[in-house]
Amino acid sequence: MIILKIGGSIITNKDSQREVDTSSLKRIASEIKSSLNNSDKKLIIVHGAGSFGHPIAKEYQIGEHFNPSQYPQKRIGFCKTQNAVKELNMHICEAFIQEDLPIISIPASSFMTATNKRITEGNLKFFTKYLDEGFIPVIYGDVVLDSEVGICVISGDQLIQYLAVNLKADRVILGTDVDGVYNKNPKTHDDAIFFDKFTSLEDLDTFEGTTNVDVTGGMVGKIKELLYLADLGIESKIINAEVEDNIFKVLENKEVKGTVISRGN
Ligand code: ADP
Repeated sequence: MIILKIGGSIITNKDSQREVDTSSLKRIASEIKSSLNNSDKKLIIVHGAGSFGHPIAKEYQIGEHFNPSQYPQKRIGFCKTQNAVKELNMHICEAFIQEDLPIISIPASSFMTATNKRITEGNLKFFTKYLDEGFIPVIYGDVVLDSEVGICVISGDQLIQYLAVNLKADRVILGTDVDGVYNKNPKTHDDAIFFDKFTSLEDLDTFEGTTNVDVTGGMVGKIKELLYLADLGIESKIINAEVEDNIFKVLENKEVKGTVISRGN
């Protein structure tokens, strides 16, 4: 079983709220279709919230402690965020269905809960059932109830980790808008050095955030989740999903530039 994450940065337009990059989405869906035509792989899709979720979550400070008197406002923020990411998910499902891909949404807000922003509950039996029936389950960065902070955001990257561990994924692939991990942000540093293999956070020169809208940690948050997976013996690979055919090739197990996150040497 393969878990493929489609980064929020590729499918949404960072500069404007709630705008889908329809051409990227269509291309990615068709690359997935081409690969699935060649075999009957089991595939789970995870996607980020991109500019649909982050600005609202930030505005309502979701994930921060609050007084009971603030709960009415927090609930509205929760609902607005949930609705916005659901809207993005709908666009994704639409694009997949156009390609005849049997995608089915299983939103985290409807069955997962967290403690201190980490998923502590979430029965994945529906994923297994849908996979067995030939569907492609999709889950995405979302809001969930949290026993410590009331409500919180769960990133697509945390979901990847949870699903990979609990469903024992064979392969974990993350498509983003850069070639992989560098020692610093390649978008702001021309001299950033690329890693084929990434084994420790100490390899990073700077610990900066990534997209200015991301409330869930950006590249650093992503790497932390993946190092945790690596500790459990599950390798993952970050690739550039903006490069045409990369998703197709990686699904086909063909050579694609990217960073493997692993604890081994
Ligand atoms: P996605 O939405 O695709 O999951 P993010 O936007 O959260 O991805 O993270 C990807 C971004 O992280 C890249 O666009 C890049 O600018 C930024 N970034 C920051 N530091 C690094 C780094 N050390 N290596 C690679 N990318 C980095």
